[in-house]
Amino acid sequence: MSTLLVRNATIAVTMDPQRREIQTGGLFVRDGWIEQVAPTAELPRQADQVLDLTDHLLLPGLINTHHHLYQTLTRAVPAAQDADLFHWLRSLYPIWARLTPEDVHISTQLGLAELALSGCTTTADHLYLFPNGCRLDDEIEAAAQVGLRLHASRGSMSLGESQGGLPPDRVVEDEAAILADCRRVIERYHDPQPGARLRIALAPCSPFSVSPELMRQSAELARASGVRLHTHLAETVDEQVFCLEKFGQRPLAYVEGLDWQGGDVWFAHAIHIDSGETARMATHGSGVAHCPSSNMRLASGLAPVRRYQAAGVPVGLGVDGSASNDGSHLLGEARQAMLLSRVGSAIAPEIDPGPAMLSARQALELATLGGAAVLGRDDLGSLSPGKCADFVALRLDRLEYAGALHDPVAAALFCTPTPAEHVYVHGTPVVSAGELVTLDRARLIESHNRAARRLIRGD
Ligand SMILES: [Zn+2]
Repeated sequence: MSTLLVRNATIAVTMDPQRREIQTGGLFVRDGWIEQVAPTAELPRQADQVLDLTDHLLLPGLINTHHHLYQTLTRAVPAAQDADLFHWLRSLYPIWARLTPEDVHISTQLGLAELALSGCTTTADHLYLFPNGCRLDDEIEAAAQVGLRLHASRGSMSLGESQGGLPPDRVVEDEAAILADCRRVIERYHDPQPGARLRIALAPCSPFSVSPELMRQSAELARASGVRLHTHLAETVDEQVFCLEKFGQRPLAYVEGLDWQGGDVWFAHAIHIDSGETARMATHGSGVAHCPSSNMRLASGLAPVRRYQAAGVPVGLGVDGSASNDGSHLLGEARQAMLLSRVGSAIAPEIDPGPAMLSARQALELATLGGAAVLGRDDLGSLSPGKCADFVALRLDRLEYAGALHDPVAAALFCTPTPAEHVYVHGTPVVSAGELVTLDRARLIESHNRAARRLIRGD
């Protein structure tokens, strides 16, 4: 049994059902689980470990619902800088085809380090290329050394160019082999228990890179195994045209016909979704990973976030693959969501209906409770008794927050996104006093840059 006392936070933002913001607040944690959330004066005075958060804002750990960690190796690639999704993918597929197991390892650690320093405690990842002997295990083993919770999605591509798909044939896999490997990683790694650090999801990549049969069989296997389903959907107009031409249906109707609907399904992007489709998603409980930076970067469009919220569709945030963002700053992504929503309600009210603006607190809710709902984690997302002790502390005595301390909660979203000072997962530090606890930052950067150079040059 070990206990942790977190005390004296300027404000503890709970995201509990009452959305309490507690002045001079803190937590009492036992064995990684929150026992009490209260003003410091009401908490026990002693514990095995004490973290004093004077001049800090305390937040629930942020949850990232969509990422491709391996893409940290191909950020800002010149040929893909000013391209829409299909051209961006065509520029990058040949580079990604050179990915090795070591590349997966180093990019996983780099991406997770960047996420951790931005306040993230849980991330989903979507790995859908397995060239040169790469396995999902390479990512899982690398992540275990970092300490963030991981929802590792076993992605797949099976529809190569010769079959009418977008990716080159050399990066797609055989469907029987994909399903066998999905079964293997679920049996080996998936932890359904509360407090799980590792879960598996099944994630055929997109309508233009897998067959309908693989979508259907993935859904069947996921349901038989109790794991969630994830894919990219309705990201671009090009994808919509592809689905109408190839399947005679819009993207959502196409996947619904393959049993992709329900509270165990979450879609990345879900931009080109109309009102009737929104209502169907709400009825079935399918969730959305909203990725505002990626959507702007690739000129994909505006996701109807306010419409989703009004209809009761679960929405979380995703930084998305680092080659389409090109960063992994989750607090920054919440800021982007807040700002982009305001653009949406100004220029396209039919997509993102106003009149109210998405507030800082609502954006923070997307990054915490929203992410937890999308990933099916009722043990995460808020600072409440009985939840996992995943939390983040931001230093408030920084240049970026000067002049905004009349509302530190809003400052965290409105002001320039800062690195987190402390990040704890299940009561254990992953970032302490602004530095990574589990990784050597300088060595990580150096070996990651070396891997990226090799990958881009093709040595
Ligand atoms: Zn993506």
